[in-house]
Amino acid sequence: MEDAFGHRISYLRVSITDRCNERCRYCMPEEEQAWFPKDEVLTYDEMLRVLRVGAGLGIRKVRVTGGEPLTRPGVADFCAQISAIPGIEEIGISTNGTLLSKLENGVTMAERLVKAGVRSANVSLDSLDRAAYQRSTSRDLLPKVMEGIDAAIAAGFRSIRLNCVLMKNQTEREFVPLMNYAWEKGLLLRFIELMPVSTQEVLSEDNFLATGTAKQLIEQHTGPLTPLPDFKTNGPATYYAVPGTEQKIGFIGAMTNLHFCETCNKLRLTSDGKLRPCLGSWLEFDLRNVLRSGCTDEELARFILGVVERKPKEHDFRDNYQPNRRMIAIGG
Ligand code: SAM
Ligand code: SF4
Repeated sequence: MEDAFGHRISYLRVSITDRCNERCRYCMPEEEQAWFPKDEVLTYDEMLRVLRVGAGLGIRKVRVTGGEPLTRPGVADFCAQISAIPGIEEIGISTNGTLLSKLENGVTMAERLVKAGVRSANVSLDSLDRAAYQRSTSRDLLPKVMEGIDAAIAAGFRSIRLNCVLMKNQTEREFVPLMNYAWEKGLLLRFIELMPVSTQEVLSEDNFLATGTAKQLIEQHTGPLTPLPDFKTNGPATYYAVPGTEQKIGFIGAMTNLHFCETCNKLRLTSDGKLRPCLGSWLEFDLRNVLRSGCTDEELARFILGVVERKPKEHDFRDNYQPNRRMIAIGG
């Protein structure tokens, strides 16, 4: 599948729930949430059908996300069923890490995911300081996340990446501890610019820390970072080598990197069944309605191709984008 601008679409992010056991400031700060009613959330079977048809159209990589995907029962079995779809070559999961070490019959969630064919895990981690972590997520779950990351390492994911959202006057003191931790554990650390998929109060200049500024601040500790233009991880991150070590760190700058959208290969399916051609655009198309109106696979394929045709050249985040959905309702 190719869009009107020559992006080859091969990657689908599937949000399986809008629910979460944390309340990150930049994502879903309020305690009270209006979750999608259960009957508006796609069933696993509905999602698998979209994935099967999508695979027929060229989807090769799937990332399971949310909300917190590991809060939805049956997630490992769902991933195993994705693995069985002909054409799907890679499955990843995005998680806050709090439930990766959870045991069921003596087996951790991380092990169940690996057994189900999930090869990569992106784990959100904004701080290694318990009090700061609690301030950022409204939950005192850092010890669980640490356990979860260890469980993920033990389970043998092929790749584990740590993602930290840059917040001004907060992340600056986390740079060195997070880099040291990632290096000790052998994990790839990325810093993500705050995107306008949150409440207006969070999206102020006072909270925004650009990746370029973050890089300069890190260089005060490490010396000049060396660009690694050939190192890619199937996304818009740009990577640098830390001098004097083998460590690489990444920056994801949706707001300040003007080349951010050039290599975009993604579509997003929200848990309430909207197909979105771009995270940073208002456009979304109601796939649930189509699915539940008894469509054929051919009709479903035509619908998906129609959404791909409407994929914008680039996101609208820099041009007065007003959030119509928060990240939790889109799927990060
Ligand atoms: N709950 C999982 C997690 O935290 O990784 C998966 C879903 S979360 C919405 C996916 C990613 O989106 C996380 O890395 C999170 O840090 C990021 N995210 C959430 N809100 C964001 C925002 N306003 N700007 C940038 N990244 C954001
Ligand atoms: Fe939950 Fe992830 Fe959003 Fe944090 S970033 S509130 S963990 S969905």
